[in-house]
Amino acid sequence: MTTQSEAARAADRAQALPLDARTRVVHAAAMRTPGPGPLSVPIYQTSGFAFDDADTIASAMSGPEGDFVYTRRGNPTVRALESAVADLEGGSAAIASSSGMGAISAVLLSLLRPGDHVLAQKCLYGGTFSTLSDLARRYGIETTYLEGDGPEEIAAARRPNSRLLLLETIANPTTRVCDLPALLAAGRAGGLLGVVDNSLASPVLCRPIEHGADIVVHSTTKYLAGHSDVIGGIAVFADPVLHRTVWARAVELGATPDPFAAWLTIRGLQTLAVRMRQHCENAALLAERLVAHPAVAAVHWPGLDGHPDRAAARRLLDGYGGMLSFDLVGGREAGRRFVGAVRLARLALSIGGVETLVTHPASTSHRELGDRQLKEAGIGAGTVRLAVGIEHGEDLWRDLDRALSALI
Ligand SMILES: *Cc1c(COP(=O)(O)O)cnc(C)c1O
Repeated sequence: MTTQSEAARAADRAQALPLDARTRVVHAAAMRTPGPGPLSVPIYQTSGFAFDDADTIASAMSGPEGDFVYTRRGNPTVRALESAVADLEGGSAAIASSSGMGAISAVLLSLLRPGDHVLAQKCLYGGTFSTLSDLARRYGIETTYLEGDGPEEIAAARRPNSRLLLLETIANPTTRVCDLPALLAAGRAGGLLGVVDNSLASPVLCRPIEHGADIVVHSTTKYLAGHSDVIGGIAVFADPVLHRTVWARAVELGATPDPFAAWLTIRGLQTLAVRMRQHCENAALLAERLVAHPAVAAVHWPGLDGHPDRAAARRLLDGYGGMLSFDLVGGREAGRRFVGAVRLARLALSIGGVETLVTHPASTSHRELGDRQLKEAGIGAGTVRLAVGIEHGEDLWRDLDRALSALI
């Protein structure tokens, strides 16, 4: 193959100057080869690779580091994405997937066996929660849910068969930020592997491996790709041995990304740092204005004083993220009306794209929950989630303000 080997990339990285994340997102995926070469990462839109003799194929099939053989096992465009995200997260290697759930499933199904036990933070992404419920029903893999408030909870909930601790850097839509170093250290002391879903922070705002995580997972659909035009996921590993174990199962599971999807993600990744800055700036402006609005009872954003995890957020995050939620004074009906009244912000379920999106969880993603169950999940009947985009903040505020004023 004409692409640079993993070993050569690693050597390059080791010699490179310590570059800022804003620089690394631009260059991390580049395939630097001797002589003139393309600036953009080429799309290797192929299912497989041809060889000269059988022995070379055999040696290429030895593991994730071998030459490319068949795209489900590895592909140069996909590998460029994997190397870039591993670099940004400070991991040793990564496995890209066709969706965030593909990455999460690959990690859970690779590392858990029937009878194992999982500790997980209570406010988890809905898809992850459903997967864990399914693992309990069908494979006897039980999960104990934690508030995520402190390490004592982990020691108390741990069992001899506990295997994995599952956390999220910024939870959705509650915006809780757990104390990753304390929780991951308590997990490690109890022999648990620490897995952190970093989708809402992105490596620009937080790198959980620096705080003791073994595996970081992402829905690259969100901030990493960033343009609401591709579904993808990735798992990044601190330890190459763990990477190899999960890689073998991930290849069998087959949740491999298409090379073009990987390419779109790389293209998005290059502007991640400037986008995150604008997402965070806009969120700060909107959070402050929402706090002062009479139609709003409470605003949840880790950058606000009074947020329950303000101290952890200050320590762990290089910016407080582009997702915020707020509770409307008028409750469920006000939430339903508000999301129908905004004009610039669009009513859609995703997050992390350049455009601002609103949702009303009580009438959409969480519609099956009654008021008490909603409260348990940390969501109010009048809670609105705002995935703040990168538009001009004042334009966004005018849109929200007009929709809010209609409620009073
Ligand atoms: C969206 C999301 C996922 C799932 O990702 P998909 O790409 O939709 O499969 C997982 N975790 C978090 C935190 C998410 O926001």
